[in-house]
This record gives sequence, C-alpha cells and structure tokens, in this order.
Amino acid sequence: MSEPLFEKIALVGIGLIGSSLARAVRQNGLAGHIAISTRSADTLRRAEELGLGDTYTTDAAQAVRDADLVIVSVPVGASEAVAKQIAPALKKGAILTDVGSTKTSVIAQMQPHVPQGVHFIPGHPLAGTENSGPDAGFADLFQNRWCIFTPLPGTDPAALEKLSQFWRRCGANIDTMDADHHDMTLAIVSHLPHIIAYNIVGTADDLETVTKSEVIKYSASGFRDFTRLAASDPTMWRDVCLHNKDAILEMLARFSEDLASLQRAIRWGDGEKLFELFTRTRAVRRSIIEAGQEVDAPNFGRQEIAQPVST
Ligand code: NAP
Repeated sequence: MSEPLFEKIALVGIGLIGSSLARAVRQNGLAGHIAISTRSADTLRRAEELGLGDTYTTDAAQAVRDADLVIVSVPVGASEAVAKQIAPALKKGAILTDVGSTKTSVIAQMQPHVPQGVHFIPGHPLAGTENSGPDAGFADLFQNRWCIFTPLPGTDPAALEKLSQFWRRCGANIDTMDADHHDMTLAIVSHLPHIIAYNIVGTADDLETVTKSEVIKYSASGFRDFTRLAASDPTMWRDVCLHNKDAILEMLARFSEDLASLQRAIRWGDGEKLFELFTRTRAVRRSIIEAGQEVDAPNFGRQEIAQPVST
C-alpha cells in the first residue's frame, strides 16, 4: 500500500458521508491516524463499535488538534457552529474542507472563522444514498462519482492539488467551479428532484380517493422510484432547502412553467407535444448511462422480489 497522504485526518460528523470517508481512508491507507468526532455520545459509540477510526471524541476541537486534513460532514445549517468550535484548535497549514450540499451558504458560515494559515477549500461529493448514520456508509460510495470544489480566491494550488489527490484516491473525479454556479447546478440535478419526490409522496399520502394500502400495493408502477428520494434524511434536506433558497426557487419557477405547459398539452390532447417531450427525456437517460452515472440494466438493476401469493 502507498504512503498515507496525511499523517492525521479528523472527521467531524460521522454519518453516511463521514463514515464512508472513514472507510475509504482506511481501505486506501490515506491517513496515519483517523480522529472521529460527532455531536452525540450514541453516534460516537456506534462509530467506535464499527471501528471507523483510531480516536473518538464528542469534542470536535479536540479531534481537529494536530490534524493535517479536517473534513466537516454535518448538515449545512450546522456549519457555522462547527466552524466556531474548531477554529481555535486548527493547525497552521492544515486543510479544512466540508462535504455540504450547498456551497454559498457554507462559505458564508465558515470562512469568517477560519484562522490565517489554514487552507479552507469547500467541497461537495455528488454521492449518497437515502440512508443516514455511521452504519449507512461504505468505502466505495465515491467510486466514479464527482467531487466538486468551489475554491475561494487566493486558494493555495498545492493545497487544492493535495485535496484533489485525496478524493481521487477515494475513487472520485474532480471538478471545480464557483459556489454560485454549484448551487444553481445542484438545484436542478439534486435539490429539485428531491423536492418533487417529497411533494408527490406527500400528495399520495394525503389522498382520500385512493387508499394508502393501494398506493403501497401498486407502487411498482412508478411511485416507488420517488419514494427512495423522499426517504432521504429530513434534517439534511430541510437545511438544503433553507440554505439554497434562491437557486431552488428559481428552478422551481422554471419547473412550474414547464409543468403548466405539460398540463395544457394533456388538456388539449396535444399528443405530438407529449411525444416530442418524452422522446427528448428518454435520450437524457441514455446519456447518463453512457457517462457511467447509472447502470445499463432494466428496472435500475433491481432483483425481482417474489410476488406475494394472492389468497
Ligand atoms: P447523516 O448521516 O445524518 O450524519 C450527520 C452527522 O452530522 C452526524 O455525525 C451527526 O451527529 C452530525 N450532526 C447532525 N446535526 C448536527 C448539528 N446540529 N451540529 C453538529 N453535528 C451535527 O448526514 P450525511 O448524509 O452524512 O450528510 C452530511 C453532510 O453531507 C450534509 O451537509 C449533506 O448536505 C452532505 N451530503 C449528503 C449526501 C447524502 O446523500 N446524504 C450527499 C452529499 C453530501 P450525531 O448523530 O452525533 O447527532
């Protein structure tokens, strides 16, 4: 195994993303020492039972002391409180990064607290599942997924390269862009799909003409594909909505206009328009498969489950 990239890595937050990082760091020998910190004693105990690190503490400042790389993996709304807590303990020359799903807000929350001499490089791995907590993570989560950096003006190129190397060794591909562009892009590729899923599942749950048991029983007709997104962590997604408000509202406005146009096409029996849209969208899926971001297997590669025997 090659030399560790960092002598000590501190992971602040050990949920799905933090614990996947811990496993990837261990598997790829990227650190001499992994320090783990999380807010609650219960999560910390679970991380320790899973053997995710070398040292464990609920005191984030203690974890980051002497660390060469600090990765903050907490809901975006907690970024400022965490930055305040760890700032006095950060080592000069350390790289500080995060994995938050929104970037402009995280930068505004964290940057003012970052001491001189610490390299703050905001990041966001575009990889996840609907599960949370330390049990949910796995070492391959970042394989062939993108990690986007939104470096601030004056970022040290050597620090950026070292962090890029870290993520590449976790399996990710690297892109950089400015924070506003990140937030607008993610609003359409991630935030809106989740909001639409939360909305459609909520609507089905409120229906009175179709019973809840029917919604569940017949869900394989399409509904269940929304339920995966709508099962995502409520705290994380509340924070994403609150902290990428402008970009999300702009994309929602575009979406609502297009939905109204689709509604009109259905109302007026405009089959040509419907067919043209559905053909265009089918091609988008083919491009995603070609880009290696989805499996080329029918039904998302699901194994068929045995059907319940009707009585
Ligand atoms: P998670 O599994 O729910 O874990 C959250 C972690 O943050 C836990 O260690 C939790 O500590 C801690 N935490 C929660 N609230 C906190 C607070 N108010 N102050 C300090 N610590 C707090 O979440 P995750 O999915 O790993 O997400 C972490 C970050 O990654 C988020 O910013 C999210 O936007 C981003 N992200 C998520 C995904 C995804 O698909 N899940 C993908 C890319 C990026 P305790 O359990 O000890 O309370």
